[in-house]
Amino acid sequence: MPLDVEKIRRDFPILGRAVRGKPLVYLDNAATTQKPRQVVELLAHFYGLHNANIHRGVHTLSGEATKLVDRARGKIARFINAPKPQTIVFTRNTTEAINLVARAWGERCLKAGDEILLTDIEHHSNLVPWQMLAQRAGAKLCFVESEPDGTLSAETARRHFTARTRIFAFTALSNALGSVSPVGPLAALAREYGALSLVDGAQWVPHRPTDVQALGCDFLAFSAHKMFGPTGVGVLYGREDLLEAMDPFLGGGDMISEVWLDRATYNELPYKFEAGTPDIGGIIAFGAAVDYLAAIGFEDIGRHERLLSERLLDILRCEAEVAVYGPRRIEDRGGVVSFNVGDVHPHDVGQIFDAEGVAIRVGHHCCQPLMRKLNIPGTARASVYAYNTLPELEAFAKALRKAKEFFRVTSAR
Ligand code: PLP
Repeated sequence: MPLDVEKIRRDFPILGRAVRGKPLVYLDNAATTQKPRQVVELLAHFYGLHNANIHRGVHTLSGEATKLVDRARGKIARFINAPKPQTIVFTRNTTEAINLVARAWGERCLKAGDEILLTDIEHHSNLVPWQMLAQRAGAKLCFVESEPDGTLSAETARRHFTARTRIFAFTALSNALGSVSPVGPLAALAREYGALSLVDGAQWVPHRPTDVQALGCDFLAFSAHKMFGPTGVGVLYGREDLLEAMDPFLGGGDMISEVWLDRATYNELPYKFEAGTPDIGGIIAFGAAVDYLAAIGFEDIGRHERLLSERLLDILRCEAEVAVYGPRRIEDRGGVVSFNVGDVHPHDVGQIFDAEGVAIRVGHHCCQPLMRKLNIPGTARASVYAYNTLPELEAFAKALRKAKEFFRVTSAR
């Protein structure tokens, strides 16, 4: 069934606003998505009627808040087919989820000379925590090079596994190139070599059905704010036996079982990794975001995003002197399209788009090593979601032509 985009759009008041006197065209969904009123209203409802801290309170409101958080955890577990809610750890975002593994697993399990395998298309969030761990542990960082079209190949990856590889951390969908990774085969490869797999699902989970058991990954990290949820909430899914064996990440309230002046014992999963008061309202509202996505369904979302991505690619590829990055084949792509206009700096391109009411992202997209490999300072990037429309892409096309005219980018340049 085609998506009822107009119905969806009615849930997002922000999409009705004007920017610089033009209707807003929001194409920065890979950075963060807009929030439907169901999510915003639930947040207001929680603070208006149920607000209390969770767990320790014996009073009614605390019990209600605790139940609502537990219910959200259960929904998120079902959403990614995690075997148990206890395997869902709430963090602040994807970045914190990856840091949690690098600290709590890495410091206990990694020895000098061990290898951490990454790829050359990773977001800084899935790079810098491993650099920090490698420095502390005396471990070695190794890199799978992406293919010329920006995809990852299991065959190429295989060449980088050794007897010392302990973990393979890779993105499921590149935020800079839009390339989709063969997540299952890459996770299987790690298993074959006795290594763990960590999947950066920040750009994948919001757009594709996710089944951690079918994918066979050991860890998965993602952020609520990229999937209609609020900022301030992320998820680390981890295999239960691995989480059990890991040390805590942060110390403080809630993560303990018993505390003496000189030592402590730790709480059960997932609380061992959730020190201090979490973003209670945000977690509950994230549950509503997951309900909202599930009600639309990924089959329809996927079909719609593909239609939009094909149109975006057509628009860009028809223009002379416009470079498009990432896979040629639509099957290898998500809804993220990176481009450059002649040799105009992407920031300048972004300003012309903004003047047309079109919000795109520009810069290195937290992938500086990849930009260095491509020998460019950055890109302009359009990224779509369920509420974007084909007419909006015509506004994008108009802004593109304006940018070319303004900077006099022609084939004769
Ligand atoms: N990984 C990828 C692929 C991303 O695109 C992003 C954010 O854009 C992140 C990680 C970091 O997400 P967050 O800033 O929510 O921690």
